[in-house]
Amino acid sequence: MEGAYDPEAIEPRWQETWVEEGTYAYGNGDADTQYTIDTPPPTVSGNLHMGHLYQFTLQDFVARFHRMHDDAVYFPFGYDDNGIASERLTERELGINHGDFSRREFQEKCRDVCEDYERGFTEDVQSLAVSVDWNNTYKTIQPRVQRISQLSFLDLYEQGREYRQRAPTIWCPDCETAISQVEQEDQRKHTSFNDIAFEIVEYGDGSTPEGDAGPGETGDAFTISTTRPELLPACVSVFVHPDDDENQHLVGGTARVPLFGQEVPIIEDDRVDLETGSGIVMCCTFGDQTDIEWYQAYDLDLRIAIDESGTMTDLADEYEGLSTAEAREAIIEDLDEAGYLLESRDHEHAVQVHERCEVEVEYLVTEQWYVEILDRTDEYLEAGRQMDWYPEKMFSRYEHWIDGLEWDWCISRQRDSGIPFPVWYCADCGEVILADRGRLPVEPIEDEPSVEACPECGCQAFEPETDVFDTWATSSLTPLINAGWDWDSETEEYTMEREQLYPFTLRPQGHDIISFWLFHTVVKCYEHTGEVPFENVMINGMVLDENREAMSKSKGNVIPPREVLAEFPVDAARYWAAGTSIGDDFPYREGDL
Ligand SMILES: [Zn+2]
Ligand SMILES: [Zn+2]
Repeated sequence: MEGAYDPEAIEPRWQETWVEEGTYAYGNGDADTQYTIDTPPPTVSGNLHMGHLYQFTLQDFVARFHRMHDDAVYFPFGYDDNGIASERLTERELGINHGDFSRREFQEKCRDVCEDYERGFTEDVQSLAVSVDWNNTYKTIQPRVQRISQLSFLDLYEQGREYRQRAPTIWCPDCETAISQVEQEDQRKHTSFNDIAFEIVEYGDGSTPEGDAGPGETGDAFTISTTRPELLPACVSVFVHPDDDENQHLVGGTARVPLFGQEVPIIEDDRVDLETGSGIVMCCTFGDQTDIEWYQAYDLDLRIAIDESGTMTDLADEYEGLSTAEAREAIIEDLDEAGYLLESRDHEHAVQVHERCEVEVEYLVTEQWYVEILDRTDEYLEAGRQMDWYPEKMFSRYEHWIDGLEWDWCISRQRDSGIPFPVWYCADCGEVILADRGRLPVEPIEDEPSVEACPECGCQAFEPETDVFDTWATSSLTPLINAGWDWDSETEEYTMEREQLYPFTLRPQGHDIISFWLFHTVVKCYEHTGEVPFENVMINGMVLDENREAMSKSKGNVIPPREVLAEFPVDAARYWAAGTSIGDDFPYREGDL
């Protein structure tokens, strides 16, 4: 051996050799001992960060350990490059807005931007010395994967596990699309809590107030406390708690909404929160999930005051065209002027935001596709129990997520860069026309359905479904993508090209996406194959910054692995990753290397 060890020369040489010679290629499909890993495909939404370095290195330890034990190790790599995350990356990168292009044009721009980033991902991951099999890679937007994703939709539809419904949906006014429960997250925000006088039109016993001395002076008014006065035009009723003795005389009566004048019923319900505000609350379509429950339970009116872009509608009278924030300010001012505003105080509370853009969500009535999940939560919980969890304690996160489920899984998105639904509708009767499985993937906007006429009414005109799938509807299929799940038109059966891979031995992933990726993978694979897709799950923690804060683009504290590896040999980084406790979050400190 000549001289000292020189990582700068030796590391790249071996990295290239491994890739060129296919050193870690999965070879022996017949081996008795298969060790198959469902590698997490990084979302193409920006550059790789230290968390990626950490988790790929952990996965590599597992892969190398089992290779040394003569297992046939399958350690593939994927790129998750469809959906809102890569659309937003493209918009940011090119300084454009998706609305200014045709779908085809915008999709091409997304492809170009994603390909650049994917090249960077590949180089970065290869420089980590992880023993990935570069002969087995996939992109979630490639035609083979689109076919699998559309097959999945058709299979679930035919099993009766999917439905399309016009109903209140969780909506992001910034991304202008429906989203699912898992994509909304709590955020603490400062706002004002406003006490507003509602005039009583009629008491519960049918009597009417005497005199007309104005609100708050004669006792002919009651107080509603709200953080969202811009919802007053959408107010459809007022609720009183059954234990609220002081206000029982109102139940069954009618109240008038200030400024907007609509008269609404006063109803009794035990979902009223007696602890907050005056104990009397308004129900608007829709301010929150309780409003939706009340709307459905009491068959209330639907008053739509906010549109898809978060703009006030004509129902808001003079506030039409304002954003919700502008309307809030203007309405508070006008309430004050008219004597309806009794008090306004500073208030910190939790609001629901879209996790991708951190904009507050709205609840709008729209038509969407859903996968039914609420009726089978017990089965999905049991499927979770059948897997071995490393560390064991992480199972409780899976359990909590399932316990807190309140919505079926909304899978349709009003976006451009995603996989299309293989669906048309009869222009006359609305009948759902499915694509032939042999033809997948299809793009209904460009392709014609296989039938000449609607089987229900004979009409020969069809409308394409223009929505695309939720990105998790496809990434939840990675075990089936890896195993080559398909449909054989000859035998009319679902097939698996590499059956020996499935179920997978290991699903490694971060704890931040147990509710996103793991749960939905279990749902999909379980419904398609009847089997739990993984024997083991290994859940890694997050790499934090020096001050134990999460690394994020908005905080500007993200450390790219490239920077670290420019200064240190990769062995130092691998040694650092090896010294952590699986599942725990921990800070990255340069000194530790
Ligand atoms: Zn959003
Ligand atoms: Zn028809």
